[in-house]
Amino acid sequence: MAVPVACNLCGANEAQLLFPNTLGTDRRSGSIERYRCTSSGYGKHLAIVRCTQCGLVYASPRNGDEAILESYEDVVDELYVEEQLGRVLTFERNLRPLLALVGDVEHPRLLDVGCYAGVFLEVATRHGWEAWGVEPSAWAAEEAVRRGLHVIRGTLATAGLAPAWFDVVTLWDVIEHLTDPKGEMQRVNRLLKPGGIICIHTIDIGSLMPRILGPHWPWLMEMHLYYFSRRTLAQLLEENGFQVIRQFSQGRYLLLDYLLAQLQAVSPQLSRLLRGSARRLGLSRRPISINLGDLCTTLARKTAEA
Ligand SMILES: [Zn+2]
Repeated sequence: MAVPVACNLCGANEAQLLFPNTLGTDRRSGSIERYRCTSSGYGKHLAIVRCTQCGLVYASPRNGDEAILESYEDVVDELYVEEQLGRVLTFERNLRPLLALVGDVEHPRLLDVGCYAGVFLEVATRHGWEAWGVEPSAWAAEEAVRRGLHVIRGTLATAGLAPAWFDVVTLWDVIEHLTDPKGEMQRVNRLLKPGGIICIHTIDIGSLMPRILGPHWPWLMEMHLYYFSRRTLAQLLEENGFQVIRQFSQGRYLLLDYLLAQLQAVSPQLSRLLRGSARRLGLSRRPISINLGDLCTTLARKTAEA
């Protein structure tokens, strides 16, 4: 049953409705299909509210935390593995600032939270990192292990990792899916060495696109529970033992065919036509760098115990 949720940042219960629930009586709501990484559940979301005290934007009311975690445990997504090239290019680029921050540690130790099938771990390993991952989806975790990666199935709360052991912890497109971001920041803080780095990449509700598009901003989705701005994310980090180093918008590489497939939401015919043309021209697998300014990376350093 869906129940109202208190603010995860300041604990307040009063919130103002920003976008009403668009799931209606759709019985597929909460179905596993929507929790896939390549799911296109655009335009369908829970009610989204803004805390009247601190301004945090989040989905409420919503189902209990256990039901949400179970949805992720059962996710199976063959498409994700096929769509790898764009991700590899994106992660190659995203790794660079992290390397600069760890300085001259020889084989820095990294943990990727919600690592899915382990694409980032593969990239990091190739660049000399000792890379570990935690992933709730049984299918994705098995896929990563099959590829020879160190991946523990579960969550940070259950993984049993040693404290003060990692130089860097990353969360790529993960924090917006968590039921308790504050608790997760405290767990990450414990796992990091003193002075260790946290890297969070997430959608940015304070950027220009959501202000222009309003209810049509495509990242308003059922599986997104938290919509941080740079300010609310910085506050979350600073209240949990971190000091923000840098926040910057960071896009991603997508294959042309994947982009054209997204056009289905606007016009299935146009999408089919353009995908066919791109195939004939041999351009389907061309990577395109996309940055609409609504995805933000935040780098922060552990300066105190949470
Ligand atoms: Zn609040």
